[in-house]
Amino acid sequence: MKKSALVCGAGGFIGSHMVKRLKSEGFWVRGADLKLPEYSESTADEFLLGDLREPEFCQLALDRPFDEVYQFAADMGGAGYLFIGDNDADIMHNSVMINLNVLRVCAQKRIGRVFYASSACVYPMYNQLDPGSPNCTEDTVYPADPDSEYGWEKLFSERLYLAFARNKGIVSRVARYHNIFGPEGAWNDGREKVPAALCRKVAMAQEGGELEIWGDGDQSRSFLYIDECIEATLRLMRSDWIGPVNIGSNEMVSINQLAERIMAISGKTLRIRHIPGPLGVRGRNSDNRLFQEKLGWQVSQPLVDGLKLTYPWIKSQVEAAARNREAQGSSG
Ligand code: NAD
Repeated sequence: MKKSALVCGAGGFIGSHMVKRLKSEGFWVRGADLKLPEYSESTADEFLLGDLREPEFCQLALDRPFDEVYQFAADMGGAGYLFIGDNDADIMHNSVMINLNVLRVCAQKRIGRVFYASSACVYPMYNQLDPGSPNCTEDTVYPADPDSEYGWEKLFSERLYLAFARNKGIVSRVARYHNIFGPEGAWNDGREKVPAALCRKVAMAQEGGELEIWGDGDQSRSFLYIDECIEATLRLMRSDWIGPVNIGSNEMVSINQLAERIMAISGKTLRIRHIPGPLGVRGRNSDNRLFQEKLGWQVSQPLVDGLKLTYPWIKSQVEAAARNREAQGSSG
């Protein structure tokens, strides 16, 4: 019999890529989200539009036994959404409600296993002050001191998935994602993350113009291309180990270096201008030793390879948006 999966958050970036991958493996897939994917049609066999904060909608989404449930739905965005303070109550309330509902219904139904997408934002600020040597090994998460309410919610929800696994007979898997990027992610709606935001700014800039970067650009991060994120997620999900574990790249770069790489791909030379903006921690890198030890596999794609696939997609979005504006201008 065909295996089946439910992807919560199937209208979002990682969820829509996961649906494609599961379909390519022959799964019967149901997607659930507030919205359909924005950039391509969902390949899910069935897509339920609804709000996972509502217990009734969760019951509906989980009304049949699934071999695999992927929980990606969250109130989420980049630094311009997560770190400005204005969205803290919504971020915590909405995402906790979703996770409480999903877990409660999973505990009542015959569900093979449940994957939860946590985040590198759970790691304490005091270990990420130096952009040259952040420490994000899995066991350094306590004493807890995440830099955002988003991180606190992720840490609480991780514990929820682990507690339901201990007490309620659920098989769960928990990963901490570090900056996933690629085509068909948010790029211009205020929820985009730094690779997409810089690709957009570079695509929109005139040769010789300026490129604005928040802060001094020396803050460091690592970025994982979506295909490797999906591969790593499936490997964890189908292993006999629960996590939590980092899923990220360990190729750490400064934001200035990220910008240089995107400019090189675009063929444009722009003057970097540093401006004030929300920043998050000073340094962050994925420590992949535990994943390698437990799963015998590691991500390996160089950052630049993923950027070479992402920049053209964002450039095409920028160009299509410009054509639409022009068409609207000439018809009005
Ligand atoms: P995304 O915002 O593109 O996708 C999340 C989806 O959840 C959206 O489509 C949204 O509509 C949906 N959603 C939100 N509230 C909902 C609700 N009440 N009911 C139903 N659907 C709802 O985000 P993403 O980048 O695909 O991230 C997926 C998961 O991975 C999230 O949990 C996120 O916190 C986690 N994560 C992502 C990254 C990253 O770099 N993208 C890093 C760390 C963790």
